[in-house]
Amino acid sequence: MSDTHRYSADAEPEKASSEQEELLKRGLVRVSIAADGIDPLLDRRLKELRNSLRSDAPPKMLGALLPDLERAVLAADQSRQQRSSEICTQLKKLIRQLQDQEPPKETDKALRTLSKQLDAADNLAQSLPRLLGDLTQLQAATLSSSPEEASTGLWSRLFGKSSEAAATPLPALEDPIPLDAAEPIAEPEAEPPEPETPAPVDALIPSTEAEPQPAAKTSGNISGEEQSYSKVAAHIESILLNLLSDIQLLEEQELTCQRLREQISKGLNWYELTAALDALSALVLNAQQNRQVEFERYLQQLNQRLSQFQGNLEEAQSSYVDSLEEGRSLEGAIRGEVEVLHVDVREADDLNSLKANVEAKLNALLSKVDQARALREARDSQVSERLKVMVERIQVMEVEAQTFRKHLEEQRQQAMLDSLTGLSNRAGLQKRMDEEYERWLRYGGQLLLVVLDVDHFKSINDRFGHLAGDKVLRLIATQLSRRLRKTDYIGRFGGEEFVVLMPGTSLEQGAIALEELRAGIEASPFHFKNAPVPVTISIGYTQFCQGDTLDDVFDRADKAMYRAKDQGRNRIVQDAQTIVA
Ligand code: GH3
Ligand code: MG
Ligand code: MG
Repeated sequence: MSDTHRYSADAEPEKASSEQEELLKRGLVRVSIAADGIDPLLDRRLKELRNSLRSDAPPKMLGALLPDLERAVLAADQSRQQRSSEICTQLKKLIRQLQDQEPPKETDKALRTLSKQLDAADNLAQSLPRLLGDLTQLQAATLSSSPEEASTGLWSRLFGKSSEAAATPLPALEDPIPLDAAEPIAEPEAEPPEPETPAPVDALIPSTEAEPQPAAKTSGNISGEEQSYSKVAAHIESILLNLLSDIQLLEEQELTCQRLREQISKGLNWYELTAALDALSALVLNAQQNRQVEFERYLQQLNQRLSQFQGNLEEAQSSYVDSLEEGRSLEGAIRGEVEVLHVDVREADDLNSLKANVEAKLNALLSKVDQARALREARDSQVSERLKVMVERIQVMEVEAQTFRKHLEEQRQQAMLDSLTGLSNRAGLQKRMDEEYERWLRYGGQLLLVVLDVDHFKSINDRFGHLAGDKVLRLIATQLSRRLRKTDYIGRFGGEEFVVLMPGTSLEQGAIALEELRAGIEASPFHFKNAPVPVTISIGYTQFCQGDTLDDVFDRADKAMYRAKDQGRNRIVQDAQTIVA
């Protein structure tokens, strides 16, 4: 092997290795450029590395850079993970907020899936663009699904969550319209006839109501909401009018109230409804606020007067103490003078000078007594003057307090009456049930609890309209009041359910009375447009038994009523437990 050959043989691997090193360095520079921008510290370390590579620094120097670089890579990785988890948390929060908006079912489902995908994403940075795209779409779907909800406070309370509810032919009134608390007893023309005479449902209902559905005034191009509204317009108007006649307004609000009443009576279209509702709520709020201000003012006055009383009493007390002290000091002075007189008498040897001396002293004494009396009389008259003022003020306060008490009592009573039927509402019923229960616990005796539910009432509403349904409820309430005893207590529990408490009544007596009641309602000739409307009720009843809570008893009567339904309706059923007993 020649030298040249040997030389070139040795030089080849060296050259290859230096080419490889060069390639490696170039590769490293590129990789370090690619990794740029992930983390500031890592960027700095990579720059150092690049500089060293470019300046052909010896491998030793490069080696020294590596531990720092390694640490920077690890730290960058950790902070990337943390950022990912933060993004994930925020996105999930956003998803939850969207879910709170109660989006349509399928959107809600898609949001849930998206939330799960976020949890499962291995490499969030990679999947983020897609996930964000999905989220944007779902957000749009959610927000466009409930456009009017935010602006229809009273509307949604009246008719449920969306305008769809209003579009349902005959919405359930029971839940969305809790008018019980403020409604008056049925108007005079609503008085039902005697049980024997026909109860013409339609004759008592405005003519529009006799048609399938009343049409509200609409113009030109009517929207979905308007159409839905027109279906329930008459019902809403009657509710608003009831509400207006129920709320206790201030004198100065009468005119506004009258105008509103006239406007509603003429009929409201969809657009006028919102304004009318606004005006009504402003009236109610105003009246309430003013009444509160009035009451607060009264309490302040009361407080002032009481502190005045306290001042007067303290003065009277101190002037009494003063007069006691003055009396005592007068007595002391008199005693002193009398003792001096004694000495003078004992030591006197000249009768004339003694006489003059005694007379002078007696005169001085008398004038002291006169002065003291005048002082006391002045003080007494002051005190009695003050007392007179106090008595007068107390009288005024009594009158004021009575007025307020009456006012509060009226409000309390009104809050416990059902506006539709004039019977006790649920609150009133609960109060009476509590009282009767307490009485029964204390004195015992026979007490029955009865639950009554109108049969197929929904179909009465569906066939004849809600106003006719209301009328039927009023007529049933009147029948109940007429047919039960004065001592029985009747309340509207809610919707088409009534509760009766029958004190001093055995199960046998109760069964007879309730059967008569059931038969009476069944026989009542309700009719609509001359066609008979069959109305029946199902009744469950039970007796208060040893160890019962009120809930136990109610529960049993309620279950018995459901058994009456199961057994075919239009019947009375005694609770099973009391049958066994
Ligand atoms: P069931 O014989 O099983 O009791 O059938 P139902 O139709 O009477 O019972 P359901 O509970 O299905 O329906 C009761 C209906 O009563 C639904 C609701 O629209 C109606 N309702 C509740 N309160 C009122 C009200 O104040 N006025 C009117 N008109 N209807 C009411
Ligand atoms: Mg019911
Ligand atoms: Mg019913």
